[in-house]
Amino acid sequence: MSDKKVRVRFAPSPTGPLHIGGVRTALYNYLFAKKHGGDFILRIEDTDSQRFVEGAEQYIVDSFEWLGIKFDEGSHIGGGAAPYRQSERKYIYKKYVDHLITSKLAYYAFDTPEQLDAKRAEVQNFQYDASTRSMMNNSLVLSKQEVEELIAAGKQYVVRFKIEANEVIVVNDLIRGEVKINSSVLDDKVLYKSSDQLPTYHLANIVDDHLMEISHVIRGEEWLPSAPLHVLLYRALGWEASMPQFAHLPLLLKPDGKGKLSKRDGDRLGFPVFPLAWKEATGEVFAGYKEAGYFPEALINFLALLGWNPGTEQEIFSMEELVASFSIERCSKSGAKFDFEKGKWFNHQYLQTKTNEALAELFMPILKEKNIDSSLEKTSQILGLVKERVNFVAELWEQTSFFFIAPSSYDEKTVKKRWKEDSASQLSELIAILESEENFSAQATESAVKTWIESKQYHLGNLMNAFRLALVGEAKGPHIFDIAQIIGKQECVARINKAIATLK
Ligand code: GLU
Repeated sequence: MSDKKVRVRFAPSPTGPLHIGGVRTALYNYLFAKKHGGDFILRIEDTDSQRFVEGAEQYIVDSFEWLGIKFDEGSHIGGGAAPYRQSERKYIYKKYVDHLITSKLAYYAFDTPEQLDAKRAEVQNFQYDASTRSMMNNSLVLSKQEVEELIAAGKQYVVRFKIEANEVIVVNDLIRGEVKINSSVLDDKVLYKSSDQLPTYHLANIVDDHLMEISHVIRGEEWLPSAPLHVLLYRALGWEASMPQFAHLPLLLKPDGKGKLSKRDGDRLGFPVFPLAWKEATGEVFAGYKEAGYFPEALINFLALLGWNPGTEQEIFSMEELVASFSIERCSKSGAKFDFEKGKWFNHQYLQTKTNEALAELFMPILKEKNIDSSLEKTSQILGLVKERVNFVAELWEQTSFFFIAPSSYDEKTVKKRWKEDSASQLSELIAILESEENFSAQATESAVKTWIESKQYHLGNLMNAFRLALVGEAKGPHIFDIAQIIGKQECVARINKAIATLK
């Protein structure tokens, strides 16, 4: 690597919520910057006013805050290269456009949309380029005076980049190696529009990367086709020597079949593709990872491994560990299947590492919603028994409701299978054993009950199943004596009595 300070940027266009692929791009930029002691910048590319969406920038900022991805400079925090919102940098770009025109590397084009449509209808696969530009209405064809008159008269124009035909352009990509293309496939890209006096994405992106001293451009594969044009622009502007290094990340693919992961796939297959929930102007709501109950650390860990691998078997990485292990060289060229089941697995792993108290804190609001009053201590104890069974905090209710609410009915199938002829009489005897148990700890109760069963030669399995049915209402839950201890002697007895009365 060169000795230039590492400075990378995430440069979203605020056209809607941030897709999960964009989150991964930002994450890789962040990891790369931190690994090399560099800066990470948030730049908002909002020069396309047609596609601007209210609230999208705030959504982006909120998403990264939730994820724990921190910027060193950006539209939301300022910094030495401010402003970071392209709409606020309008005044910067025009001089570069003018420079390209005076050095004859760009030209004015006055073709109206109608004229362009007519050309497209006339010429098959029409492309505005070296082979066609002489047939068009532009400053390469018109006289200097004509051009000046048109501009003075307020005629709308665009500025197009003049790309020479048949030149091999080489893009050195850190992930893909040398990518070569022939310049003839490129069209004379629009760099600037007089109608809104704004540069297009391509020009603003290059100018800002240069002015912000960006050292590496790490972005999604969908931008690879623009890279040759960007190389030509750097050259035209005389900045080739300080051009950033490119790295184009692999696509995120649909979990089933081929193709790029889309925002519809999430709804279709039942998983979020956005970090936070997002409401469209139409009222349509897209789910977010946060609202779905993911821990940000789990999502980060999941995304980190979608397109990068550490070269070892290790799967669980804290952010610090990711920073230490990350390298662009270990990013893959081929697309990464978006295996959302693996995402759940990561959440499961992170949930297990939380203390019972921490989980209880997260679970208490759910209990409160259900009007259940339980102490933090008791809740922690309960969660310690069941947390292995869940991937998400919200799933804890399903696993624990019977600790808080006595069964009001008994699962029919279980009754059929587990409730025997002598269950009622045996459970009546069990009540007496439980009542005589002074120390109601799980251990003490278990040993007393088992001694009694042995002395009576009762069937251990049948009895335990009936006992569980009485306490839980179905054939699920952790160790039955743990349940008994937590709900307490009185409640146990009441539940057994109720089961006997109901099931006979
Ligand atoms: N504004 C572009 C986007 O929305 C930036 C692409 C790039 O990183 O150059 O992704």
